[in-house]
Amino acid sequence: TIGMIAIDVESNIHAATSTNGARHKIPGRVGDSPIPGAGAYADNEVGAAVATGDGDIMMRFLPSLLAVEAMRQGKSPAAAAEVGIRRILKHYKEFMGAVIAVDRLGNYAAACYGLKEFPFVVSSPAKPDNQTRLEKVKCI
Ligand code: ASP
Repeated sequence: TIGMIAIDVESNIHAATSTNGARHKIPGRVGDSPIPGAGAYADNEVGAAVATGDGDIMMRFLPSLLAVEAMRQGKSPAAAAEVGIRRILKHYKEFMGAVIAVDRLGNYAAACYGLKEFPFVVSSPAKPDNQTRLEKVKCI
């Protein structure tokens, strides 16, 4: 899955996903990516989140919505992304996935499980060098 979050010049927050789905998927499988709250969620008042991983498991817990709602309650993007992952972990120890969370000011973080680390790309015209760079986070 490619999950993207963008904040435009008018401070509107956008989230979107594109995915090839799961290997050997059955015809008609939808997965988590196109489901609001599962693959992606955005709210201008708070921020946005996107998710990737084992969609058949993850979609049951709406991790992107959970992350946005955690930020609404005052959690940092890092803590909020972890809320999304930990909710799934409570029920499934055998899954692989990641959540990226961005608050409305552009602060961002990711949390992941089932991998060693999770890479993601960040680009910000607000930063002096405006470089697109690869960052990574260690998984839980
Ligand atoms: N979440 C996607 C799906 O299950 C797969 C992925 O993230 O690569 O359809």
